[in-house]
Amino acid sequence: MQFPKIMTAALSVALLAGAAAPIYAERYDARFDSYPTYSGSDLELAVDNSGTHFKLWSPKATQARVNIYDNGRGGSPSETIPMSFQPATGVWIASVPGKQMYGKFYTFQIEHNGRWLNETPGVWPKAVGANGMRAAIIDLDSTDPAGWDADRGPEVKNFSDVILYEMHHRDMSMHPSSGIANKGKFLALTEPGTTSPQGLATGIDHLKELGITHVHILPSYDYNSVDETNLPANTYNWGYDPQNYNAPEGSYSTNPSDPATRIREMKQMIKALHDAGIGVVMDVVYNHTAENDGSNFELTAPGYYHRHWDDGRYSDASGCGNETASDRPQMQDFIVNSVKYWADEFHIDGFRFDLMAIHDTETMNRVARELKQIRPDIFVYGEGWTAGDSPLPAERRALKENVSAMEGIAVFSDDLRDAVKGHYSNAADRGFATGKPGQEETVKIGIVAATAHPQVDFSKGSNSKFPYASSPEMIVNYVSCHDDLTLTDKLRKSMPEASDSARMRAARLAQTIVFTSQGTPFMFAGEEIFRDKKGVHNSYCSPDSINAIDWNLKSANAEQYDYYRGLIALRKAHPAFRMTSAADIARHLVFDKIDSSRQPNLISYTLVNHAGGDEWKDIKVIFNGSASRQTVKVPSGNWKVVAIDGRISPTGDLGTIKGGKVTVPGTSALILAR
Ligand code: CA
Repeated sequence: MQFPKIMTAALSVALLAGAAAPIYAERYDARFDSYPTYSGSDLELAVDNSGTHFKLWSPKATQARVNIYDNGRGGSPSETIPMSFQPATGVWIASVPGKQMYGKFYTFQIEHNGRWLNETPGVWPKAVGANGMRAAIIDLDSTDPAGWDADRGPEVKNFSDVILYEMHHRDMSMHPSSGIANKGKFLALTEPGTTSPQGLATGIDHLKELGITHVHILPSYDYNSVDETNLPANTYNWGYDPQNYNAPEGSYSTNPSDPATRIREMKQMIKALHDAGIGVVMDVVYNHTAENDGSNFELTAPGYYHRHWDDGRYSDASGCGNETASDRPQMQDFIVNSVKYWADEFHIDGFRFDLMAIHDTETMNRVARELKQIRPDIFVYGEGWTAGDSPLPAERRALKENVSAMEGIAVFSDDLRDAVKGHYSNAADRGFATGKPGQEETVKIGIVAATAHPQVDFSKGSNSKFPYASSPEMIVNYVSCHDDLTLTDKLRKSMPEASDSARMRAARLAQTIVFTSQGTPFMFAGEEIFRDKKGVHNSYCSPDSINAIDWNLKSANAEQYDYYRGLIALRKAHPAFRMTSAADIARHLVFDKIDSSRQPNLISYTLVNHAGGDEWKDIKVIFNGSASRQTVKVPSGNWKVVAIDGRISPTGDLGTIKGGKVTVPGTSALILAR
């Protein structure tokens, strides 16, 4: 999330609540640090042969109880069970001996400062009913699809080998042209053989054909904004409004009222992707909650899980009304145990942390360390920024600039993003690939994955001023994502006089820079067929008519698609683009000296001496972001042409060039190999 996008419902509720009573001051407690903590995996619910056991962490509550229900919503409790307090751990416990209460639902309620708060499913429900208001007691084993025990994601040798494809469930499947039956559902990606009206692959077959290694799915835990009890009227939402962090979102299942179906269908999707050799990264949003006083955190342990300013107001580094407090032990534990749960139970292969810099580096280091104990190749990356000020001191934040202090974590490079296509916040602004001069050094920062390089002057960078990454495995390069304009829309707004065919040419150049750069490349779903969002900048709650990918474009823009496929194949075939250390990059990536005042928008470099163990001895990469052709000197010899004038051949079958003075057509990449 780049900046606030869910200010509407959540914030207005918070403001109303705040106006009614001085509730913040009432809940704020300066003694949080002295709270006892409890991090057992039996928190909130455990079922074993001896019965059903409830355990709620709420150290300041004066009373607590469990309400048992027959249904996920409506009706009154069939039973209300008082809980007893264990001061040493801060937990309230209750047990129903001899009974495994599968099929029942429950909520907790605590008494705080003399009044009973609203019911909550707690912070740890793994299964919930419609709209996530009540937790469900189910046998998790019953949600495993056939063959689940043997399921696992693709092995990742180096994170620079990963190719990320960011997608929203509805974007991928809602359009009538998708040919997919389970539109907008987890099950959409379990359907083989789906095609567009022109007979071209869509859905999971399209992903296989394109060649990406991992899908990065937008938030898929239970979020707040979509009414799961009225699916025909289902509205669209990105899902950056977390409600229950450990249960799948109901609107993506075929039956949100059935807690097991939500889980089973998400696992089916993951298994289908794994069977296709594709990993699954989950977008996680632990940095804030959809609601303030009404959040499960507040109703469970008031004041503890969110940060506040000294006057007791919620602080708001998320721009969404609040921010969570990873620097408090029980919250840190929550985040760590939650991602571990998804990795264990759902076989998730990676986590993308939204507004990661709201969390402290210590928490993020623990996240990476403990996940890698489950599987060393679980990929953790995030947005190394916040959307507002935070009481957490800058030096403790998991900022992009602090990434070298975070072992095994990567951050998005906004350097390359803004320099290549123009600034995200100014639609008309152009970048290196669309003819804006002066961006060369910042693009080079992206090419070397923000690692120290003798030929890159970081002081000339537009965003970061120093080599903040100590390894290319700390950088994710991209030119667009769900936030802001799609690349297509950005090019339409910044090149108003141009034709779409000229814009597609610019898109090819922009993505060629991303996919040949060191670090991990990332792309937004549908850009391979030049999808747009009709110029909508912040489409978080725009209808499907804006957000859904029109698969007719795959045939209309077939050449564009072929280029992207070729680009991905080139990267996968050549480790020179995927080096694993800063030292290797400094040694094997050599820039040509180009006078930018005389030849603006021109970058030329060579990957020398079998970089990364590549079969090709030298690879010459030249980007011409100006509209007119430019000449570059290439050492003499027999060079195979890999990319030229908007065409690409991963095997270098586009002819040969002798070297000497070589002409590079405007707005294109020239890639040569020998
Ligand atoms: Ca929901």
